[in-house]
Parts: sequence; C-alpha cells; structure tokens
Amino acid sequence: MSNHKERYHNFSPGPATLPLEVLEKAQEELPNYQGIGASVMEISHRSDAYEELDHQARTRIKRMLGIGDDYTVLFLQGGASTQFLMAPYNYLEEGKTADYINTGRWSTKAIREAKLFGNVHVPFSSEDSNFSRVPQQDELNFSDDPEYVHFTSNNTVAGTQFPEEPDTGGVPLVCDASSDFLSRPIDIEKYGIIYAGAQKNCGPAGVTIVVIRNDFLEKAKQNGIPTMMSYHTHAEKIFNTPPSFNVYMVNLMMEWMEEKGGVEYFEKYNREKAQTIYDEIDKDDFYRGAVDKDSRSLMNITFRLQNEDLEAKFLEEAEENDLVKLKGHRSVGGIRASLYNACRQESVDALQQFMADFRKNNG
Ligand SMILES: *Cc1c(COP(=O)(O)O)cnc(C)c1O
Repeated sequence: MSNHKERYHNFSPGPATLPLEVLEKAQEELPNYQGIGASVMEISHRSDAYEELDHQARTRIKRMLGIGDDYTVLFLQGGASTQFLMAPYNYLEEGKTADYINTGRWSTKAIREAKLFGNVHVPFSSEDSNFSRVPQQDELNFSDDPEYVHFTSNNTVAGTQFPEEPDTGGVPLVCDASSDFLSRPIDIEKYGIIYAGAQKNCGPAGVTIVVIRNDFLEKAKQNGIPTMMSYHTHAEKIFNTPPSFNVYMVNLMMEWMEEKGGVEYFEKYNREKAQTIYDEIDKDDFYRGAVDKDSRSLMNITFRLQNEDLEAKFLEEAEENDLVKLKGHRSVGGIRASLYNACRQESVDALQQFMADFRKNNG
C-alpha cells in the first residue's frame, strides 16, 4: 500500500514505540474526528467533543490505577522536567524539608530543582556505585518530618527499578514514574503525587500525566505561587489550552491498554519480555548486566559486552537487523533495550535471537 519500509523493532528509551493499532485508529480519525466535521486538533477545548474525550482519558487512567474521586488526574505540559520544579514549588519553602531518594540522573535533576525552594534531605544515594542499584528499606534514613518523600520508580538511564514502594511510615510519596507509569499495579494509597511524561508508556511526547491525592492537593500552597505553577489552578478546571491532540493519543493508548487487560496484564507481559532478555544475558559471561540483579528494571534493560569495540559492532549489526535504538545513554555507554508497554514480545524475541547469534559468532 505504501513505499515506506516496514516498521522496525523499536527499543527507544523515549519517545517510545506506540501500538500500530493506536496509530492506525488515529490515522483513520484524523481528518474528521467521530464525524463532527473537524480534526480533534481543530476543535475548542471547551467543546463537548473535547470535554468528553478529556473525561474518558482521565477516567481510564483512574480505572487502571484503581482510584476514584479521592484523586485528581491532570494533563499538563512542560514534561516531567517541569514537575521537578512544580512539586517543590507547591509544597516547599524556606524552613520546610522534603526527602529525595537519589537513584539516578533524573533523581539528581529533581533534587537540583527542589533545592531552589526549600531543604532537601537525601535518605539514600547510589551515586557512588554509578546508580547501579535502588535501596533496601533499611538503608533509607528519612528526616524527622518531611513534607513528602520523592523517588524515581524506574531509572531509565541506569536500568534499575524499585521492586516496590519505599515504606515512609505514612509520609506521602511524590513519584517520578515517567518510565514505568501503568506498567504494573502499584500501591496507589501511598502516593501524594505520581507524575509521568506520556512518551514512554502512555502516548506521545507533549503531555505529562499528574495524579494527585485530593487530601495532599489541599496542602499545596494557595498563595505566592504563579498561577500556571499551582496544582490548584489545574485541578479546578482546564485552565488554559491543553495539549489536546496528545491527550487524544493518550486516550487511545489507555483504551488499547484496557482492552488488553490493564496493568495486571501489562505487569505479566512486561515481566515475560524482560525475562526473555535477562535470561539471555545470564547464560554466560558474554553479556554482563549493568546493574545489581535485585534492582533490575523491567522497562530498561542495560548490559555490557567485553569491550566498546564489540559493543559498537553489536549496535551496528543490530541495526542491520532492524533492531533499533539499543545504544546505552551517553553517560553510561553499553547497550540499553527499552521494553515499555507497547514494545511487543515479537520484537523482544527478535532481539533475543540476535543476541544468541551474536554470541555464537563473536564468543
Ligand atoms: C524521560 C524521563 C524524564 C524526562 O521527561 P521529560 O518529559 O522529557 O521532561 C524524567 N524522568 C524520568 C524517569 C524519565 O525517564
């Protein structure tokens, strides 16, 4: 039908691959959204059609998280990086403290922003080991009375992931879940805020999903904060023009995920995909996992070969086999395979087969 080449096996860390079904539905609906006579990009965000779609997207996210009216879902702009400043802007000031667990590059960036607003206490850092692991519960030294505890549930660059939430003794968690949002069930009651750029697990770049527990929202600053930076502004109503097409894409992605079976389905699926690659890594010493085994991520699998020349050869030959975007982050090197919700087992099997063949030919 077209002269485009086939879609490649896409292991991009983000923006990440989307399901073909979702892209095709968007294509089909693009010029005339649900017969209203215009594209979803061309209609008012105050129109019934948009309000309905916004409501659907929020409701689907709530359903998948298993939450009701005690939480608010927001669609904001500025990426997860803007949440690094928005969270402390709303909850910190001179004399107040928040705890920030430092497990990687993104946590470090969040800490830098929080320090602009108040005190930051770091209960644990794995910086010394190049962020090769997440903490055990008994390694967390929290401060006495923090406003919240911030953590990065999945560390996209290093390839580590918290197997479960840190236990804060009831202090609300604020979580950057950009690279594992809706990839598995979580204990949502523990979270004051969970935020994620959509572009890894949930849709295209350009919209950030922010979920706030309403009793935590009430504690957010009411005064002395710019309107657009205040969670209250966005929780009350759609305040300004939202990234409407991106919200539309998130809604399609949520529909696709619900049809598959929601977060329970994706946990199992993601676990199987990750296991396929970790098993291949662990067969012998040819490949070496880059992080501690009990901190391994189900989303971003990082590994090394014996030397950089061999890694370069691996990447080059992978690309020739349509296995794309496997280069590790420039700060760590090596190989990184990102297996988010929309990455298919078929792609993972192709990667596993390639890894086995590459070992045979170069071992
Ligand atoms: C990708 C990523 C970010 C950055 O998100 P932006 O939307 O580009 O600001 C932040 N945190 C984590 C964990 C990420 O994976």
